[in-house]
Amino acid sequence: MIGGALGRRLTGLLLRRPVTLWYDPRYRLPLSGLEGATGMEPRRADFAAWWLAGSGAVSPRRVRAPSRIAIEELARVHTPRLLESLERPAALAAMFGVDPEELDADELLDSVRLACGGTLEATRATLRSGEPAINLLGGFHHAAPDAGGGFCPVNDVAVAIAAVRAEGFAGQVVVLDLDAHPPDGLGLCLAADPRAFVGSLSGSDWGPLPGVDETLLPEGCPDDPYLNALEALLDRAPRPALAYVIAGGDVLAGDRLGRLGLTLRGARRRDLLVARWLDDRPQVWLPGGGYTRRAWRVLAGTGMAVALRSLRPIPEDHDPLSTRFRRISAELSPGELGDAGDLTAEDIEEALGLRPTRQRLLLGFYTAGGMELGLHRYGIFQQLARLGYRDFRVTFDQGAAGERFRLTGEADGLTGPQVLVELVLEKRRCLGVPVLYIHWLSLRNPRVRFSERRPRLPGQEVPGLGLARETATMLARMAVRLNLGGVVFRPSHFHLAYSARHGFAFVDPDREGRFQALVRDLADRPLLEATQLVADGRILMNGQPYAWEADEMAYWLRESPADPGEVEREKLRVHFTVAPPR
Ligand SMILES: [Zn+2]
Repeated sequence: MIGGALGRRLTGLLLRRPVTLWYDPRYRLPLSGLEGATGMEPRRADFAAWWLAGSGAVSPRRVRAPSRIAIEELARVHTPRLLESLERPAALAAMFGVDPEELDADELLDSVRLACGGTLEATRATLRSGEPAINLLGGFHHAAPDAGGGFCPVNDVAVAIAAVRAEGFAGQVVVLDLDAHPPDGLGLCLAADPRAFVGSLSGSDWGPLPGVDETLLPEGCPDDPYLNALEALLDRAPRPALAYVIAGGDVLAGDRLGRLGLTLRGARRRDLLVARWLDDRPQVWLPGGGYTRRAWRVLAGTGMAVALRSLRPIPEDHDPLSTRFRRISAELSPGELGDAGDLTAEDIEEALGLRPTRQRLLLGFYTAGGMELGLHRYGIFQQLARLGYRDFRVTFDQGAAGERFRLTGEADGLTGPQVLVELVLEKRRCLGVPVLYIHWLSLRNPRVRFSERRPRLPGQEVPGLGLARETATMLARMAVRLNLGGVVFRPSHFHLAYSARHGFAFVDPDREGRFQALVRDLADRPLLEATQLVADGRILMNGQPYAWEADEMAYWLRESPADPGEVEREKLRVHFTVAPPR
């Protein structure tokens, strides 16, 4: 008998069902402000794909890249008027709740058309093989034949059904819409199909939905009543020859838009119940919505329910980005990133005094070419390209505070190279530990302007890139490679500390306690309002005016020297309130 983790893994693999996963890195929507504005995790599909393939739940050989759906396929369901409107940035922007100038319509449509292609290919594949299929973007249930909306420009499910109907499939279709919102568009799209059943559980009342078996659940509905309502829905539903499950991530308690109150375990039990009910009938699983950082855990959990019938939770401390970057970093050799000692023509010219001396190495190790290779391998250039930039270049120089790293890129409509990332770095000690110290960090998206939808955060000169987590994770990998014990910076504003708070903590435990108390006491306010109140001096601590303390925050790579008891004591001691406007 084989025991322990290996045994569990082997047992898991033996019980694994053959599930096929449709995924493309372009499933990440090329909208740099989405995370800040909605609290959405734009990397949801990436995280779920990395987890499912990395944990062995889905064989990496069964991960498929979708093709973009043809316009003719979309035209089976959607009117020419809707399809033409997708070419107009203003129309597309309205469906995603962003400013027209923020989006590159071609790139955004690429994501949408790939997702629709994935749902259609998954449908054909499951009809052919009978094996379950999961598409990591889709379930655009709000799109009607003549109108898109709510992150749904077109209806992937209706388009896929129309396509296989045209190819001769005449069986019963069942759509189980377990997203927290009603399938208003889907009901309209399928109205004329007598062999399509749409059943839905929702947390919002959008009025009568013709053609939909809709159950409205009370606000904050927890696991058990939800699962009871699901069992009742499954009892009413016809037995499908083809099923779609929109396994929405917005059912979680705390979702900004969902209004339901499920736990992660409850969402997994939901998927297990449906997976057992469907058994080996052709089925396509789709993610639907999800407007919290944790939504990827629901989607990855859907994969574990379908492939392994498993209730095993994903470890709370699993950070997909760190895991991914650690693996990529291990594949990058020191010779590729750093100084291999080879002399270039520029070196010789410098040595001969024919050109000014450049700073050749960053932190005594990285070459500019090495940094560019790293940025490429970590996928950062690809993200920047989707935001409309090209011709990337890394340069270094020595500033007063430390070494300056700059990444520039060019874009249509902007003259000359634009600074996209600027860092001022230094190796120094913090609490006796050698760390990578960040004096300055700026992520800039100069193509985008501030607006009501994209308001200026304190300290911002242009809007950000939405790549703060990638940057922080890459800096952590750099610190590891340089054999340092952590990454340290001083957040000049509340929102910077807030965004960093999952990996970073204030070095001083009292300061961390006060910060956690501030996060606790401002939890009801949107981040933008909270950071503005702090910047404007409108916050009182135990009744006294409170000024932001830009102390050092650290991400410790070895162990944290902080005493959690001290943090907790200070957190309980202080209370923050908002002073009335002057
Ligand atoms: Zn939803």
